[in-house]
Amino acid sequence: MEIQKSTLYIVATPIGNLEDVTYRAVQVLKDVDAIICEDTRVTARLLERYEVPRKTLIPHYKNQEAKSIAPVLERLQNGESLALVSDAGTPGISDPGYYMVSEVVKAGFTVEPIPGVTAATALLSVSHIPNGHFYFEGFLPHKKGRQTRLKFLKDMDCGVIFYESTHRIMKFLGEILEFFGDREILVGRELTKIHETIFRGTVSEAIAFFEKHSQKGEFVIFVSN
Ligand code: SAM
Repeated sequence: MEIQKSTLYIVATPIGNLEDVTYRAVQVLKDVDAIICEDTRVTARLLERYEVPRKTLIPHYKNQEAKSIAPVLERLQNGESLALVSDAGTPGISDPGYYMVSEVVKAGFTVEPIPGVTAATALLSVSHIPNGHFYFEGFLPHKKGRQTRLKFLKDMDCGVIFYESTHRIMKFLGEILEFFGDREILVGRELTKIHETIFRGTVSEAIAFFEKHSQKGEFVIFVSN
């Protein structure tokens, strides 16, 4: 693959197992002039694993995206090719990406996807729940608007995918029981990692299960309609 000048590549990286990366992703990371990332330490580790020669890392944080726009546009203007990665999975999926992409497109540069893993599709791929249609919610708002959102989502005519962190998983499951009822759910914990757990059952069974087993790690949940 020939890397194009003045192009921003959106590169998906693994959500755990570092072997879950495409040949093309590694090639692009090797060939671009600089890489836009979240935590530079996380990306540096990734690059080392894939034997990508050291190169400039441009930090790009959630809620502070505006800061990195000017240097990125200047580099693209100078003919550089750039890659955008997030700490895990696909940029733009509950991760920084959208704002950078919209500004780069507005400035007239090309943006190309280098697709790969995302936690939601990894879970859906092992779903025993019909998933012809699904709604991707990602993270619920932490405080304001959380209940309004749950009330809206309970009436969807398809299953709903949520992202949740280790600290809030039991609260989240309790809320799903309260708002959605005791539906069938699929819970993916630490997918592709050493402690991967895939739970299938009802919401109340999930609560009983995670009360007994570890709640550590990252969670993706598919709630049936
Ligand atoms: N961009 C990522 C993607 O493509 O899925 C999502 C990033 S978002 C900031 C992080 C959340 O994704 C975690 O809190 C968790 O809900 C979910 N997630 C990421 N990796 C996961 C994994 N290995 N297993 C389960 N859920 C995961």
